[in-house]
Amino acid sequence: MPYTQHTRSFKSANARPYHSSGRGRQSRPKHGSYIHPSKFINRAVVQTEENAYQATHVFKDFPFSEKLHENIERKGYETLSPIQDQTIPHILAGKDIIGLANTGTGKTAAFLLPILNDLYINRAPGSVLILAPTRELAQQIDEQFREFSNGMKLFSTLVVGGMNIGRQISQLQRRPHVIIGTPGRTMDLIKRKHLSLDAIRVLVLDEADRMLDMGFINDIRSIANQTPKERQTLFFSATITPQIQQLTQEFLKDPETVSVRTADTSEQVEQDIIEAHSKEDKIEKLLDMLTSDEFDKVLLFGETKFGVQRLSDHLEKSGISSVAIHGNKSQSQRQRALKAFKDNRARVLVATDVAARGLDIPNVSHVINFDQPATYEDYVHRIGRTGRAGATGKAFTFVSPSSR
Ligand code: AMP
Repeated sequence: MPYTQHTRSFKSANARPYHSSGRGRQSRPKHGSYIHPSKFINRAVVQTEENAYQATHVFKDFPFSEKLHENIERKGYETLSPIQDQTIPHILAGKDIIGLANTGTGKTAAFLLPILNDLYINRAPGSVLILAPTRELAQQIDEQFREFSNGMKLFSTLVVGGMNIGRQISQLQRRPHVIIGTPGRTMDLIKRKHLSLDAIRVLVLDEADRMLDMGFINDIRSIANQTPKERQTLFFSATITPQIQQLTQEFLKDPETVSVRTADTSEQVEQDIIEAHSKEDKIEKLLDMLTSDEFDKVLLFGETKFGVQRLSDHLEKSGISSVAIHGNKSQSQRQRALKAFKDNRARVLVATDVAARGLDIPNVSHVINFDQPATYEDYVHRIGRTGRAGATGKAFTFVSPSSR
């Protein structure tokens, strides 16, 4: 799949099919700060003609082993995404990197490919540590690691919470080449003396801004300080805040900065609101939308764990295949639900913000905010799940008529 960038023009919207004119009770959103509904509307019609990003390299330019080139090809990657094109040469040259990139830009391969190539030559056990904010993201990195390292006899261990620690300890004893972890569990294993970072040569901080949002600052500092000073550090973040800047100064040496952030995720997604004057009305309108074939892969956001489960059950009963992910589900239940959605066995995935964080779910056709997000930032994260990697997406948000 070639990476593409859209040229956009802003036209006014055509008919808005799910827009009701209903008058209802005066009620405000129940939680979070109030977000004016106008922020949920973007009639920008994403044009269909696309400008392919002109990569300055092709994969074959990189001095990767034959095996790695084969694996890249097998995965179907033909052209480099901008972050890959602009960071891989620096990483191969041993430079530290600040990569400003959202999920969906191909940043995982950008750091994994040079790392894999180096490991293939040096085969140093315990030499790479990748930190990511959530289990799901760590698992996705691990999946990509396995695919790209196929037949290369390189091994990784996932060190994440919510999974059996005993198994992780015995895997660490087998000295994997790469450790992929969340900060909490990684710290836990270091404290219990099952993980030593003395041999680390490459430290990757993926979605550093989210790790900070989730309160991992002390763990990250402590972990980084236990790795050797002469390591290579690859730092990825979607945003650059003063705190992020401070961290890059602490952790990186003479870094190259590469920014591929699109102006605003929300611009790539056509957005609209749906007015509903009661919960029943919302459900009725939602079912109405979901009967349309156009809604073929829908990520539906709810506020609470119970609400999300109830909604998913209700959809199932109404004949719409649906699964739910939220904090009351075990890790294996969440993975099963996610897989059902990815494999198109479920048309709808109902999720809370926390459960959906960092997930890479390709081809989501619609994001629907059944409950409004608590903050505008959450809204941008939610709708960023559609319209990824050059695809167009649509987002709908339920509002009460009185809040307009
Ligand atoms: P990431 O931003 O690393 O989570 O990647 C987002 C999605 O894009 C994943 O499904 C990757 O497999 C896919 N991807 C990454 N790089 C490429 C590429 N060069 N060509 C095609 N797909 C890619």
